[in-house]
Amino acid sequence: MKGDSRGKHPHAYEGQMTELLITHRGGCHCGRVQFEVQAPARLSATECNCSMCRKVGYWHLMVPRSQLKVLQGKEVLTTYTFNTGVAQHYFCSVCGVKSFYVPRSHPDGYSVNVRCIESDTIQQLDIRQFDGANWEDHIGELAPLPES
Ligand SMILES: [Zn+2]
Repeated sequence: MKGDSRGKHPHAYEGQMTELLITHRGGCHCGRVQFEVQAPARLSATECNCSMCRKVGYWHLMVPRSQLKVLQGKEVLTTYTFNTGVAQHYFCSVCGVKSFYVPRSHPDGYSVNVRCIESDTIQQLDIRQFDGANWEDHIGELAPLPES
């Protein structure tokens, strides 16, 4: 099953799936939202130029839902939606920071904002560009969610 889905995305996430997952911790600016995410120590993140991401400066780390644990702050999250309404953009209603959200590209998973990881656990960071301003033309270039 994994082989089938990866075959459509030959350039994406080479090697990442075989790496051990570690626990990264992070949160919003005011600290009310805290999360833990299971991901490799060497991260591949995506920078997107869509109307929202370029204003926020968001670095996407796509993970299966089971790999993100919200430790606290669910009650202060506000949800913003636009365009297709598929993506659920979660913001801290106190400080405005978007630590993670449900992305349109991977609605079964989460996108975690690598800029919000505060623990000293990232050994390497590889940023890939995604032309989200032309989403329909480029969505096929994004890797599928890593297996949980
Ligand atoms: Zn906050």
